This record gives sequence, structure tokens and C-alpha cells, in this order.
Amino acid sequence: MDAKVRLYVDQPLGAGQAVAVGPEQASYLFSVMRLPVGAGVLLFNGRDGEWLARVVDAGKRRGALLCETQTRPQMLPPDLWLLFSPIRKERTNFIVEKAVELGVSRVVPVTTRFTQSERWRQDKQLAHAIEAAEQCGATHLPQVADVQPLTQVLADWPAGRLLFWADEALAGHAPALSGVFAAGQPAAVLVGPEGGFSDDEKARLRALPFVRPISLGPRILRAETAAIAALVLWQSSAGDWR
Ligand code: SAH
Repeated sequence: MDAKVRLYVDQPLGAGQAVAVGPEQASYLFSVMRLPVGAGVLLFNGRDGEWLARVVDAGKRRGALLCETQTRPQMLPPDLWLLFSPIRKERTNFIVEKAVELGVSRVVPVTTRFTQSERWRQDKQLAHAIEAAEQCGATHLPQVADVQPLTQVLADWPAGRLLFWADEALAGHAPALSGVFAAGQPAAVLVGPEGGFSDDEKARLRALPFVRPISLGPRILRAETAAIAALVLWQSSAGDWR
């Protein structure tokens, strides 16, 4: 493979398909990476798999690529959502990046009673998700939702999806079970902020029929570690790591 760049594009891909390159990508491909005409680039759009394309026009502000062959088939994302509370900026960015690498279909930031930061830039987080997908070889791009109150997300919960709630009260009191996850069952995991969940939130979660509390082992994990641990548990027993 002679392609050293892998790019997400929001355009159709297929044999002989031309792909227009806009100003931002032109500057990256032709100024930063210095790709000449004839150079290979890997492209994916979340629908058509991954394609090897060649540079056919390398302008300063625009250019063009031409798709040659498919290099990976389109893979469906695992039907897993990550619900988490935004935390400090760099830790939130880390959670989004790791969620994409580990494999989720939707990233859902939620505010809870003890959420420290309500700041969520959906466009910036989508850009982080695209970057993570480009570097990890994913052919799909997870949806990145806007931030919403947890109460709202729970009120609008879709039928048939289970919510695995990482409940810090179970730390050390229950095994870190992976057997509760079933392949083919739409799922979500919920991880709280540094302050955990309030008593009201815990009572609400316990009362909901689609909620399954889970333990993540005997120690209290930081929110970003808990997100990774929960995704790994689900992926290894019910997702696309099997
Ligand atoms: N301050 C809280 C802990 C918050 S940890 C306390 O001391 O109780 C942040 C989040 O990570 C929690 O809300 C929970 O969703 C998750 N978490 C951390 N460790 C966990 C564990 N051992 N089991 C289950 N969930 C855990």
C-alpha cells in the first residue's frame, strides 16, 4: 500500500468516482503532506467502505482524487452508545477519541446533577471523532450527539435498548460481569462524572426497566477509565471484538 494518508470525506466513493478536495483538505494533502499528482490516499465516508484513490489535481486551494479500488468493505458499527458526562476539556476529548477507537455507534454527552462542565462543542467533538476514525482504520463514523440532560435522554429512551449503568456503589460488591451483555441486543453504557450520581439519579436509574447496573471492579475508576473499561467489557463479550 503506497498511501500514507487516510481521510474521511462526505462524498460518494466507488470505482472511477471523482472526489473533490476542498480548501482545508487541499492544504493538508498538498501543502502539509506534500502529496504530488499520482500519490495514493485512502478514503472512507462511513457508507462505501475504504477506497484507494489517486491525486489527479493538487491545487493550493482545491484538488481532485480519483477512486481506484476498494481496500476494505464497509463494516457496520457495533450497536453500542456511550453516555457520559462531559468533564475537563482534554479528558472529554480523550473519552471521545477512545470511544471511536474501541467502537461505538453513537456518543451521547449527558449533563447530570454533578456534571462539572456543561461545555460541549458538537462540531469540535465531531472533528475529534473524524480524526480518531481516520487514524484507527474504522470505516464508519459514530454519530456525535449534542449535550442533553440525562433526565431527558432517559425520558426519550428508545424501546428495546438496554442501558448498562456503571454504578460506583457496586465497586467491590459485585463481580465485573461481562456475561450480562448479549450480542445482537442494542445497548448503551452510562458513566457518571467525577462526583458520581446523586441519590435522586440513582433512585431514578434503579427504577427504570431498561437499566442494568454493572460493576467495573473493586476500585473506583476515574470517569474516563470507567468509560474505557465498560466499552471493553461490552465489546469483548457482545460486540465486534468477538
Ligand atoms: N465520586 C464517586 C465516583 C465517581 S467515578 C464516588 O466516590 O463514589 C466516575 C464514574 O465512573 C461513576 O459515576 C461510575 O459511573 C463509574 N465508575 C467508576 N468506578 C466504578 C466501578 N468500580 N464500578 C462501576 N462504575 C464505576
